[in-house]
Amino acid sequence: MDQSPRRSWAEPFKIKMVEPLKMLTQEERKRALTGAGYNTFLLRSEDVYIDLLTDSGTNAMSDWQWAGMMLGDEAYAGSRNYYNLEEAVARYYGYKYLVPTHQGRGAEHLLSRILIKPGTYVPGNMYFTTTRLHQELAGGTFVDVIVDEAHDPANLNPFKGNVDLNKLETLVKKVGADKIPYLSVAATVNMAGGQPISMANLKEVRKYCRSKGIRMVLDATRAVENAYFIKVREKGYANVSLAKILREMCSYTDAATMSGKKDLLVNIGGFLALNEKDVFEEARNMVVVYEGLHTYGGLAGRDMEAMARGIVEAVSEDHMRARIGQVEYVGEKLIKAGIPIVRPIGGHAVFLDAKVFLPHLKQVSFPAQTLAAELYLESGLRSMERGIVSAGRNKETGDHYYPKLELVRLTFPRRVYTQAHCDVSVETVEAVYQRRSKIKGLKMVYEPKYLRFFQARFEPTR
Ligand SMILES: *Cc1c(COP(=O)(O)O)cnc(C)c1O
Repeated sequence: MDQSPRRSWAEPFKIKMVEPLKMLTQEERKRALTGAGYNTFLLRSEDVYIDLLTDSGTNAMSDWQWAGMMLGDEAYAGSRNYYNLEEAVARYYGYKYLVPTHQGRGAEHLLSRILIKPGTYVPGNMYFTTTRLHQELAGGTFVDVIVDEAHDPANLNPFKGNVDLNKLETLVKKVGADKIPYLSVAATVNMAGGQPISMANLKEVRKYCRSKGIRMVLDATRAVENAYFIKVREKGYANVSLAKILREMCSYTDAATMSGKKDLLVNIGGFLALNEKDVFEEARNMVVVYEGLHTYGGLAGRDMEAMARGIVEAVSEDHMRARIGQVEYVGEKLIKAGIPIVRPIGGHAVFLDAKVFLPHLKQVSFPAQTLAAELYLESGLRSMERGIVSAGRNKETGDHYYPKLELVRLTFPRRVYTQAHCDVSVETVEAVYQRRSKIKGLKMVYEPKYLRFFQARFEPTR
């Protein structure tokens, strides 16, 4: 733990280029929301004032990254930028082989198709939407093996992303290790509120998986953020660099899927990184079918360059302290105002607990979806539902999954908003909280088949 007195910090950058924002009137916001079917994913970005929908691809790149964009080698095969990326991944993450993909789900798709056979089981420390869907499309069944604390928004365990070894063992005993192509470990766990997994847990789980011959695949999308939490919360890491912690985390896994749109400070990009040669060779072959040649994987050369440089910036101590510090700043203000949020505060977002915020709404009235709509109406603040709509339906019973967590995510793009924007966001939530008892729920009037939260439409109930 850092024992030095807490003092104010400022963003470790200055702003060189600006993008003007506008705020619609209340009436215009109402119209925009109705037009979007009360789904914040369907709003036009220009109708949004402060956009906390996601931290995915919404990052501001640095001047050094933009300079790299000018050095794009747009050759169809063997681009210089591919080799730069390969080198950066090997150096900072430690995996031997690299397959670039257009974004994280491209990597998930390849890996799922290669490793998952119908009738197998893929345990994971809570699901992520695209990850689980690709596992299911490949014929696997996802099994949640995260610790129980992860499902309790009030529990203060510093590592709510940990794998529960008992749950994993129970699954192995039930179906047999040969029916488990890999254990999927996310760091941090997005759906649990950006909660980290500890190094000790990673180590212990690795030991168990080794003994059973089960592979471990890291969802490394926010692994550097996870490394930061290890540094400040786990004994023995206070004086270890983020870069070193990241390498150690990855060393306990066999492969990683990556969305560069998060930790790596780019607007598009991802990769699959592997240590097993035969799996790599299959992935390198398959990427040609779905993404593009194995030295670009659906990306332009300049995109790969920006991502390679983003890796270097992501592990910068100043950057990560400010990035997570901003999220903590908002979270702590909300806690002070008595607003129910998931605790501890996560790495990339503050999650409002919609079940407690709107206790008069049943889960089938979509409390989190409702709250996200109200925040937009209040000030043009865009957030995202992470609850029953995101959870989707059980493919066997056809009924909704009813997740314990019914959350609204205020997600912070990296290096985009200032502390003043953060203050306005907090004031918005407070204003909606004041009038919460008058808020009515929603009903779903259109439901797409896959990842319904992106395109579902709603209407107010009366
Ligand atoms: C965003 C994300 C993905 C998917 O990556 P895309 O780049 O959006 O395809 C996978 N896992 C986690 C934890 C994510 O946050």
